[in-house]
Amino acid sequence: MTRLLIVGPPGAGKGTQASRIAARYSIPAIATGDIFRQNIKDQTPLGLQVKQIVDSGNYVPDSLTNALVAARLEEEDAREGFLLDGYPRTLEQVSYLDDLLAGKSQSLDAVIQLVADQEEVVTRLRKRAVDQGRSDDSEQAIRYRQEVYARETTPLIEVYRAKGLLVEVDGLGEIDDVTDRILSALAAREVVPVAQ
Ligand code: ADP
Repeated sequence: MTRLLIVGPPGAGKGTQASRIAARYSIPAIATGDIFRQNIKDQTPLGLQVKQIVDSGNYVPDSLTNALVAARLEEEDAREGFLLDGYPRTLEQVSYLDDLLAGKSQSLDAVIQLVADQEEVVTRLRKRAVDQGRSDDSEQAIRYRQEVYARETTPLIEVYRAKGLLVEVDGLGEIDDVTDRILSALAAREVVPVAQ
């Protein structure tokens, strides 16, 4: 089975592409942001703990996020393959994930980097704020999240490039075209869906 990550700035369209790619590879798309938002909505203890952090556009502490992902990857549907969206986001999360997978004799097949222009992503996020009413999509929060991403998450790209796992894909254009680009870039690396 296939183990993938997708990284890119907020608004690059990771979530949309993640579900399409995951469906194609018959693996679950696991988005830490979605899990946090669901917990906030349901007012679970985790949700209450992270609400202010998420709303402010800061990252949830690594210890919490790592534990959440470790538990999620133990669920039946993710044991053999997954596409992680929005995790890892810090260097500490990268090494945690490395160790977690190594402990199960697993490794990543590829890291999809969705490349998108800053102006374009800000425009998209403003639109999403209106469409979906996400409480962390205020103008100020959007700009702040871009900064946090640049500072905390951009360094990960070089780590995965150095490991030879990075697959860079242009995230601009029609949704279908971007999906096709990702699928062909993965296929070019012989990361292909297992035959059904
Ligand atoms: P976006 O792609 O727009 O940044 P996400 O849905 O991926 O949105 O994440 C929303 C929020 O959830 C983040 O701003 C952060 O507060 C929290 N979050 C999600 N994933 C992580 C992570 N791996 N580490 C820490 N915080 C996270």
